[in-house]
Amino acid sequence: MLLTAKENYLKKTGAKSLHVKALLFDMDGVLFNSMPNHAKSWCESVKEFGLSIDREEAYMNEGRTGASTINELAMRTWHREATDEEIQKIYAKKSEIFNSCPLAEPMPGALKLLNLVKESGIKIVLVTGSGQKSLLDRLNKNFPGIFSPENMVTAFDVKYGKPNPEPYLIGLKKAGVLFNEAIVVENAPLGVRAGVAAQIFTIAVNTGPLKNEVLLQEGANLLFPSMEYFAENWFNIYEIFK
Ligand code: MG
Repeated sequence: MLLTAKENYLKKTGAKSLHVKALLFDMDGVLFNSMPNHAKSWCESVKEFGLSIDREEAYMNEGRTGASTINELAMRTWHREATDEEIQKIYAKKSEIFNSCPLAEPMPGALKLLNLVKESGIKIVLVTGSGQKSLLDRLNKNFPGIFSPENMVTAFDVKYGKPNPEPYLIGLKKAGVLFNEAIVVENAPLGVRAGVAAQIFTIAVNTGPLKNEVLLQEGANLLFPSMEYFAENWFNIYEIFK
């Protein structure tokens, strides 16, 4: 499975080799089990403004900016884009509900995997659309010694965000590696699309309720059922991709 995925990647991208020196990790739904809170706060907040989104659609939209999600819902119900004022109000409500949710737990297996990757001498970069001020504190608390501002790409670093390849291209730069020297780790369809568009070998980890096909259709090179599975199989994976 691993070898075939590697050969398919080389064929598709035309890259001559794939020797991995860095792993680029998404955060929500990969390092933290935060997607249930995001989905809940989207569903509840837009309802108050006469819009609607269901849980599955919230997962499908993960990675999109708040404004873009709100506009999509507005077009469907109001048949027009939302005004800046509406976007601001709805997003403020979404954030308020999200912040009242219990703090998301680290994803089972994430800490183990990060430590194994680090011990293997592979660079680690965080690539997230999130822009919470307390981000680094939370990362340091749950994953001590792994992250610093130098190896993080956040909402403040990007102009377009996922599904544009931009965040992952910046991630490569921060790691100081080429596209065929990295692996992207993603849980969301639009995140997979961004990694694939950056021509990086992309592993989808299906930690949510979406069907595997949704992630594979976006071009994921491999699909794992959980971060625990990823951590348990790290040494096999490293053997093939080092
Ligand atoms: Mg995610």
